[in-house]
Amino acid sequence: MSYSFSAAQMNRLSELAVTPLEPAIFETAEARQKMFSQLEKEGVKKNRRALTRLIETTHKPALCTLSENLARALCAQGFTQVTTPTIISSKALKKMTITPQSPLYKQVFHLDGKTCLRPMLAPGLYEVSQRLLNSQKQPLGIFEIGSCFRKESEGNTHLKEFTMLNVVEWGTPLETRLERLKTLGALVLDAAEIPGYCFKEDHSVVYGDGLDLVSPDGLELASTSMGPHPLDDAWKITCTWVGIGFGLERLLMFREKTSGIHRHSKSTTFLDGACLKLK
Ligand code: ATP
Ligand code: MG
Repeated sequence: MSYSFSAAQMNRLSELAVTPLEPAIFETAEARQKMFSQLEKEGVKKNRRALTRLIETTHKPALCTLSENLARALCAQGFTQVTTPTIISSKALKKMTITPQSPLYKQVFHLDGKTCLRPMLAPGLYEVSQRLLNSQKQPLGIFEIGSCFRKESEGNTHLKEFTMLNVVEWGTPLETRLERLKTLGALVLDAAEIPGYCFKEDHSVVYGDGLDLVSPDGLELASTSMGPHPLDDAWKITCTWVGIGFGLERLLMFREKTSGIHRHSKSTTFLDGACLKLK
């Protein structure tokens, strides 16, 4: 009879970010337990060191540092940071054409029939922009960094709560939109210290055809969109524009070359990429 690690043992090693050497096949249950205990001990040590470095030296999780660095880089290029509510009205969803018939609707955390947790930053950004554009000249660049919520099936690349950075520029000249999107994508990814990404054409249910930024192995890092767009009518916006939305935890996952997104998320199991369950 031969033994491989149980699902519970694999889960524990995975949360400690320990990858057992292949093939992990053992002749006895005792041999398996011995190897598991050894790997777990090494993993605990590694994670404890990472937490100690955070507590004694860096003091700030990478998610917070990344968010600050991106905000600084964008402000230096003349973009203005805005903050809009996490709870939005169901009417705002409808304005985004997210209705009970659309696939994204089922992913929304509805609260009381009239409100929901925002699945994206766009509704708030549209609202603020409509008002700002009444008094400010173009081009006008704004951005927001904040939590978005989607009911996602479990996986290594999706979180129910994730941190979105959405950058919008109103009044980008029509013929320069694509180039501008590439420049903005590069600005953000340079500030995130992420090289080696590529652009790929994609289709979004909300925005239609657009351009994605992806990792070489196909992980979506950001989606872009351009206007004039049919959605603009609901906010009476008529100018040309470009927009780009990044998932910050995806950026960390790609940059740190980790296999799961959860260790980079807002969590009580993980802190700054390290596992907190060390007993
Ligand atoms: P995917 O196809 O990977 O599910 P999406 O196209 O639905 O993503 P967008 O609406 O384009 O996602 O959101 C912009 C960015 O936000 C994505 O490129 C990704 O980096 C990030 N993102 C979206 N959904 C999630 C999620 N559930 N967890 C973590 N990051 C996410
Ligand atoms: Mg997308």
